[in-house]
Amino acid sequence: MTNPDEALKRLKEGQHPYAVVVSCSDSRVTPTTVFNAGLGEIFDIRIAGNVVDDDALGSIEYGVEHTGAPLVVVMGHESCGAVTAAYDEAHNNAHAEGNIEDLVEKILPSVKNAKDIDEGIHNNIDNVAKEINNDAIVKHLVDQGKVKVVRAYYSLDGKVTFME
Ligand SMILES: [Zn+2]
Repeated sequence: MTNPDEALKRLKEGQHPYAVVVSCSDSRVTPTTVFNAGLGEIFDIRIAGNVVDDDALGSIEYGVEHTGAPLVVVMGHESCGAVTAAYDEAHNNAHAEGNIEDLVEKILPSVKNAKDIDEGIHNNIDNVAKEINNDAIVKHLVDQGKVKVVRAYYSLDGKVTFME
């Protein structure tokens, strides 16, 4: 077992996380806890609905380029409130308030043709992974074989399923 003082001393010198994880802000889906990780191991991007905007993409670029994380995990989850709000807007004429509407609009294309919320959650994971793969800096590293973007689904019973 690593001495905790030694580990903290090493982290003062820099970070070398093994993954960038893009996940929802949902309090039940904290990546460090889900993956049983410690300080310095996961570079977190968290926005409700695990969507990305320019700031999130900038954070991901930093994670893969400057900390050298070789893996980007896009992790959606069961019963996601943000995807549910988008689904309700697309299918039940609901409307979100304030800036939540901006989030919902990002998710709408993923839920429009989905038969249920869970399919929308899976589509949203696919679409966010595509968006990250299309980021110029990420794409460059992916093409060089230095970075891989993978998709995962977290069930609230604690199970992570990596998607093919
Ligand atoms: Zn969520």
